[in-house]
Amino acid sequence: MTINPYNPKSLHPLFPQFCPCPDCPYYLDLDNYITKDGTYPVKTEAQRRQRLYCHGGKHRFSEMAYSPLFGHHGSFSEYTQTAKMSSYGLSCDQIADVLERDPRTILQWQQALGQKSQSFHLALCTLIGLTLTFIQMDEIWSYLKKKKRQMWFFITLEARTKFWVNFELGSRTGHTANRLLKRLVYLMPFGFADFLLITTDKLAAYERAIALYLQKVRYAYLQIVKQRKKKRLVTVKERLVTGKESDFGKKTHNTSYIERFNLTLRQKVSFLNRKTLGYCKNQKSAQWVMWLNLFDYNYRQFHKSLRQDLTGQPVKFQSRYRHFTPAMKMGLTSTRLEWRDLIVAPIAPNAHEFVTSTDL
Ligand SMILES: [Zn+2]
Repeated sequence: MTINPYNPKSLHPLFPQFCPCPDCPYYLDLDNYITKDGTYPVKTEAQRRQRLYCHGGKHRFSEMAYSPLFGHHGSFSEYTQTAKMSSYGLSCDQIADVLERDPRTILQWQQALGQKSQSFHLALCTLIGLTLTFIQMDEIWSYLKKKKRQMWFFITLEARTKFWVNFELGSRTGHTANRLLKRLVYLMPFGFADFLLITTDKLAAYERAIALYLQKVRYAYLQIVKQRKKKRLVTVKERLVTGKESDFGKKTHNTSYIERFNLTLRQKVSFLNRKTLGYCKNQKSAQWVMWLNLFDYNYRQFHKSLRQDLTGQPVKFQSRYRHFTPAMKMGLTSTRLEWRDLIVAPIAPNAHEFVTSTDL
């Protein structure tokens, strides 16, 4: 099964339509003909839902049929609000209070949205393939349940496109770094085209993980070692681990991009705020919240530093800037997406597993 994400026949902005019904003989068949077939009302909202028709199996199904939210009795606006509030780090009880729903319902929605966000990202990255040129890795931490227990998010950021590639939740050890690198390699089924620049801080776990998983990749790796005295920065030293000094050009001798990104996350997600009592109480929930943030940041929000200045161009009556999301810069999407696009995205069960990383 090969998927062409730019199929003009497709009813979804990114994914081609297929029949999601496991009993149908045309289940997941991309050559099958799917058309729109009217709309139907739902009790919970004014907006009607799209109905689709499977010509091979001669039956109709809902646009929500792919979604883990199918049959969850909420409206699109409720799902969207749950996604937004979750991404700010609000607890299920708080969201339940705002939406006047049961907290257990909200927990189910949050999990379904987080899972969809994860499979959406993995499917898109593995099906189209990422072109990475300069990645930075760092950790961000918070407490989990109690002050004695820390949780760490290991994060990979592509510095030129500001694309949030992946993250792993765990302790600050080699295990988490290994999982991060393993996932990273898996996300690039077509291999690294050219040459990869990597910068991290001085954590030794990265060095071992990179050496282990990037054996077949041409890369240069620079560690930025910062020395602090009484919490004030004293010196910044560089330690070249692999590659030549000349590999690193201007504006690459740093981990600034990911540190700025960590600030964005800390400002947004309430349980990552520093020096407060409001830390996360549930590890699973924290993970889904991060996946929702990943969708929001990569696919939904325009990134300020990615905008293109259009002044001085010959076209009249045009807005001053052209805006991009990180995913647009990465070449994965052509426009920004909405939460609705995530909810109705037709993603085959384990779609990302169709592409294996054997050629790497
Ligand atoms: Zn069918």
